[in-house]
Amino acid sequence: MTIKKYQNILNGSGVDSPHSFESKNPATGETLGLVPHSTAEQVAQAVASARAAQPAWAARPDDERKSMVARVADMISENAQDLARWVTREQGKPLGGVGAGEIPGALFEIAACEAWTRVPAGLELPIEVVFEDDTRRDELHRTPYGVVAAIAPWNWPLMIAIWQIIPAIRAGNTVVLKPSEYTSIGTLELARVISAVLPPGVLNTVTGLGAVGSALVENPDVDKIMFTGSTATGIKIAAAAARNLTPSTLELGGNDPAIVLPDADPHAIAMGLFWGAFINMGQTCACAKRVYVHESLHDALVAELKVLVEAMPMGNGMEPSIAMGPIQNAMQFEKVVALVDSARAAGATIVTGGQAPGTAGYFYPLTLVTDIQDGADLVDEEQFGPALPIIKYRDIDLAVASANRLGAGLGASVWSADTGHAMAVAKRIQAGTVWINQHGAVHPMVPFGGVKGSGWGVEFGVDGLKSVTQTRVISLKK
Ligand code: NDP
Repeated sequence: MTIKKYQNILNGSGVDSPHSFESKNPATGETLGLVPHSTAEQVAQAVASARAAQPAWAARPDDERKSMVARVADMISENAQDLARWVTREQGKPLGGVGAGEIPGALFEIAACEAWTRVPAGLELPIEVVFEDDTRRDELHRTPYGVVAAIAPWNWPLMIAIWQIIPAIRAGNTVVLKPSEYTSIGTLELARVISAVLPPGVLNTVTGLGAVGSALVENPDVDKIMFTGSTATGIKIAAAAARNLTPSTLELGGNDPAIVLPDADPHAIAMGLFWGAFINMGQTCACAKRVYVHESLHDALVAELKVLVEAMPMGNGMEPSIAMGPIQNAMQFEKVVALVDSARAAGATIVTGGQAPGTAGYFYPLTLVTDIQDGADLVDEEQFGPALPIIKYRDIDLAVASANRLGAGLGASVWSADTGHAMAVAKRIQAGTVWINQHGAVHPMVPFGGVKGSGWGVEFGVDGLKSVTQTRVISLKK
């Protein structure tokens, strides 16, 4: 059987590369197709194509760009089933559904792609009069940067690509997208669907390993970088960007704390906390990655979470009724195994899970770990997987200090029956977002981004749209 070769998009046409690599299904090991390995010359051509298309794209009336972006949302919706199947087969999350009570899987991801396209399609960036008196009038105009390089990860490969692409093109930029090597085909399929309704050159793609990403960010004709991924790679990108002074939005890893206050109801919060921690097998930048629970509720909360954890069917997400798929790749699987094994060796209690089944695919059971403290690798390092450490606290000041002690600052949550009490704690936490009685509940109108080592800048909403523009002040003498 011949394996299908997928193509990149360059100036509206499909292009092959001399070399390619396999993309595999993490649930079965099956080869899904061949991904082109873009050459350095092709990376340069993609940037040149975006550069050539950008002035005409920016010059279109804003309403035209808005309606084209709305048409992109329609195309995502019309192709939702096919795109979701790619996400499941290549990324691993189950197909799931989109209604209340459905598993937040691949169809949920595609619905989010549509929502994060429709909302920017309707946003405006009007001219702001920032100062006016009898002598002068100063207007702040927003103009596109030019060419945006978007480097997307493998955990929510289509949704995060959309987070990067859509505001950029809505604002009049053109884009070169580089998907993760692990999830290139689904992302290329999304790009193909989107490109069908955009002028040639507005969206171009390149694929390959980290060297392709670095060739892209080092290209002096790139005017803005959007990157989502690890802090380590974010630092490399920031260093490369510094050489050309290329502005960058970096959405990096997190190690989000969830603090459960003594007045919370363990039964009432368990489901929200469960999905906050285990959505997408914990492979989400803003998952709850360490739970600090008041000692009075510890046992009751652990018991509630254990029931949920053990009730979730795990398997190949193409099969019906599956709630949890595999970990996406071997690197991530081995990281989770090592972190849980090290916690166990240090005397932590594995309440449930903790042992890979040894079957095909990167399956690892949802795992709860107790009798563990700050300083353990499973607490201090981002596990980015289905193993949740639960830490008892007595004194809220110490819990807040624990929450703030790490270098990451993406998200956090506070769980309480008393909103005022939760708000007071939330204000003390160093994070880009502090959720109350929910975790990871991002929304296309609400700015999202990290502080400290979790990145630079925000995405979503009006602020996210501003982040893909630069300012031009026009100052009139009266
Ligand atoms: P990376 O952050 O290393 O890679 C993400 C993307 O950056 C990929 O497209 C990658 O290409 C590209 N890339 C790698 N090196 C460079 C470079 N020097 N210049 C430009 N682009 C580059 O993520 P990994 O997949 O290696 O995952 C490692 C860890 O990152 C995870 O364990 C998790 O902790 C975190 N992570 C965080 C995510 C988030 O949402 N914040 C998402 C995914 C991972 P390629 O894949 O081809 O190497």
